[in-house]
Order: sequence, then structure tokens, then C-alpha cells
Amino acid sequence: MKNILSLPTPCYVIDEGALIKNLKILKQVEDKTGCHVLLAQKAFSAYHVYPLIARYISGTTASGLYEARLAYEEMGNKQIHCFSPAYKDEDFDELLKMCDHIVFNSFSQWRHFRERAMAASNVEFGLRINPEYSEIETDIYNPCFTNSRLGITLENFEESEFDGISGLHFHTMCEQGAETLERTLKVVEEKFGKYFYRMKWINFGGGHHITKDNYNIDKLTECIDHIKSKYDVQVYIEPGEAVALNAGYLVTSVLDIIENHMNIAIVDTSAACHMPDVLEMPYRPYIIGSGEPDTLPYTYRLGAPTCLAGDVIGDYSFEQPLTVGDKLVFTDMSIYSMVKNNTFNGMPLPSIYLLNNDGSTKLLKEFDYSDFKRRL
Ligand SMILES: *Cc1c(COP(=O)(O)O)cnc(C)c1O
Repeated sequence: MKNILSLPTPCYVIDEGALIKNLKILKQVEDKTGCHVLLAQKAFSAYHVYPLIARYISGTTASGLYEARLAYEEMGNKQIHCFSPAYKDEDFDELLKMCDHIVFNSFSQWRHFRERAMAASNVEFGLRINPEYSEIETDIYNPCFTNSRLGITLENFEESEFDGISGLHFHTMCEQGAETLERTLKVVEEKFGKYFYRMKWINFGGGHHITKDNYNIDKLTECIDHIKSKYDVQVYIEPGEAVALNAGYLVTSVLDIIENHMNIAIVDTSAACHMPDVLEMPYRPYIIGSGEPDTLPYTYRLGAPTCLAGDVIGDYSFEQPLTVGDKLVFTDMSIYSMVKNNTFNGMPLPSIYLLNNDGSTKLLKEFDYSDFKRRL
């Protein structure tokens, strides 16, 4: 921890040791079941560590051309899968060159691309189904909410169009346990199981919180084994979050302390720009050494140096009063952070460091004014 406190702020720090710990767990799932685990790049695209990830799991999944290309360029000879709610004509040939699996979101997209798809060798095609069952309570993360655009419902299924389709894909989970998967699979099987016999593979999507403490890995492997053996299919899972869960930090410095009926610390990071999920989910990220408000002697509201009134990270208490120049370390900042950040309000992008297994740090990426200007 001492090493990362001396880094210039704001910065993200990817924790290599924690990443490896996660990857070992995911590799165990592959080894035990013969399934394939794919990194959902949407959550974590820090390609500097792709070669490391490639040593443990089967490959990546992409949400479109750019993520597919990033994997193609940076993860060498590993599997690349792709799902997008709709593909563009001009992207499709490049996707065919790079991807192993391409999953369509509708029969109309499948019909639109089928001829070009079938002419390609070494690419398999699938359809995303919507089982209309999900235990996610926040609509923005629930692909099964009313009128969702994600996946084909049973009512809209066209069995007659199966020619050339070798797999089905569902993604209905978010930060959930194997018990949720088990209940979801029951519904998926009831509705779509009859089609599984004609498939080569089933993709269980992401949202599996596999590397979280107390996740029931035995139940996950039972679920995978069950589908594999009953339908004689290969199983894929594509966690994003679980790959880099708790494997990174965001380090910030205190810039000023002010008062307005409470103590407020202005820090050199922003919820809106550097950790948008804090406002979007919303959630309160943990800071090392902090407590809930008023549980430790000194409580502060932490806010960003932006003009957005709501750009507040949260209220935290500390053993000692904060002073200008103090460093604070947010945890679990590898996932859905670097991939979502932005330069709103002219905020600088945090640099990206790697915390090596031996405790040393290495600068991976630095940003400056030109990154802000170039996008406008
Ligand atoms: C978001 C997403 C994932 C990864 O989800 P996590 O919650 O990060 O595990 C996987 N597959 C699809 C289709 C997704 O949209």
C-alpha cells in the first residue's frame, strides 16, 4: 500500500496479485467442468494485462467491433466472441475475420447477415434469448424488464430459421450467485430446452459473481455439468466483473476542506468522470481505513472538483482529521471504471498503474490535455 500512496493522483492501480487470484478461481471452473470462461471486456479492457489473463482463461467476449479488435490485437490466439444488439453492414466482414462466435439479437439481424455469415468458415453463430426471468431489481441492469430490447422472447422465436445457428446465449444476471443461475436455468430450460438438443453450445452470459467470497462454486459447476451432459453441448460463461473484482484502486488527493453544516473534502477525482457507477448504480465505494459516517471521529462528505452539484462520492468517517494533501484509496476500482471514464468538465483522466506481485508499481498509461481536446 505504501508504494501506491506515493503515486501522482488521480490514478487507477491494477492489482496484479488480486487479478491472478481471481483468474486462478476462474481457471479452476474451466478445469473442473470443461467449460470456457471468457472475459467480458465491457467491464475491464486494460489490455496491458490481457497476456496475463490469457494464461488462465479461454478468451474474451466483445460488445462490438472495437472490443473485438482490442482482443484480436492484444490477446493473441484466444477465443473472441461477440454479441451486439445490432451489427452494422460495414463492420461485419471485420468481425467475421476476428471472431469465433457471433451472437445475434434477433431473427431479422440473423436473416440480414446470414448469407455473409454462412460464407465464412471457422465462425459459429448464435442467438440471444430472453427467458423473461431475472432477479435483478435495478431496471438499468435488468435485460428482462418489460419491453427489453435484449434477446428474443419465446413468443418471437422462429424455429424455422435455425439453419446455421449452433448456439444460444442468455445474459440475465448481475453480481449474482450460483443459486440465481440455478433458478434462471430452470426457466431457460422450461422455455428453450427443447431447442438445446440441436445446439453445439450454450452461453450463460455474465453477472456470475464467481470470485466473491462465499460464492457457491460447487453449484456453478453442477449447473454447467447438468447442461453439458443433458444436451451434449459446450458451455461458455462470460463474466466481466468477476475477472477483476477487488483487483484495483483509485488513489486521490485531498485538495481542500470546507464547511457547510458538515465537513466537506474536495478531492482530485470525480464520481461522474472516474467512477460513474457510483452515480449510476448507485453505490458507495469503500475507502481503505474509513468507516460509515459518524462511526469514526471525523466525518466528511467527499466531492469532486467539477461543477456538477451532485458529483459527490459519499460520506465517510476517519480516525484522524483529513488535511490537504492526504491520499485516499478507493477499492474495487478496476471494473467498470477505466472503461467508463470521461473528461466531462475538462477533468483529467487518471493515469493507470500496475501494482506488481512484488509490490513495485509500473506506469501503464498517462493522459493529458490532448486526450480532452481530441475528442471534441
Ligand atoms: C455485461 C455483460 C457481461 C458481463 O457482465 P458482468 O456483470 O460484468 O459479469 C457478459 N455478457 C453480456 C452479454 C453482457 O452484456
